[in-house]
Amino acid sequence: MSPRSAPKKSLHAPPAGRATAPQPSLAQQVLRTDVAGMPLEWIDYREAVRLYHMGQVAYACGSLLYRLRGGTNAKSGERTIVDVSSIVATTGHSHNPGTLRSDYVPPLNNETLFKRDGYLCLYCGLKFQTPLLSRDHIRPFCRGGEDTWTNVVTACRRCNNAKASRTPEEAGMQLLAVPFTPTYAEYIYLKGRRVLADQMEYLLAHFPRTSPLHSRIRAGHH
Ligand SMILES: [Zn+2]
Repeated sequence: MSPRSAPKKSLHAPPAGRATAPQPSLAQQVLRTDVAGMPLEWIDYREAVRLYHMGQVAYACGSLLYRLRGGTNAKSGERTIVDVSSIVATTGHSHNPGTLRSDYVPPLNNETLFKRDGYLCLYCGLKFQTPLLSRDHIRPFCRGGEDTWTNVVTACRRCNNAKASRTPEEAGMQLLAVPFTPTYAEYIYLKGRRVLADQMEYLLAHFPRTSPLHSRIRAGHH
């Protein structure tokens, strides 16, 4: 180990005319937070650059994702460079329904539901690809069961068919986990595509301590 060989600062002082930053796919999403660090949303690099230019990035954390070259500064003649980090804290207008309302309920959709349950059928416990999964209403929809986070679980088609229009008790099937309504931070995580390790760590720190997602993520189901 030679701790002096690669000072971190060099990342932010590139030699002129050469980009040295790692360039992950431009599809990699940036996690946007408010100034207090509360997760807000996923944004793409264009939106991140726009926020940098608007002076709305209060500070950045996480790793350096992109080093992007902007236009030429009329006065100095130098090209502007924008370093985009994996997590940016922003000022200005922001809506975080999760902090405004304690009873916030994120919208329910299959994509986030399946991810909540780790792509496991909560009846047989097997893992499936998304096309083979379905949304099961614990108390059947046709019998007054609601289409809400706490009344739905991920089920494979086979189990869903076997259960049919019955409750788990009636069908003699046992749920392997208790369905829960994600908090705002959990929902941001569930909506993420290819969440980076540092983004994941950041979001995990904002989950309730009792969140079932902690153990599910540790178990590698996500
Ligand atoms: Zn199943």
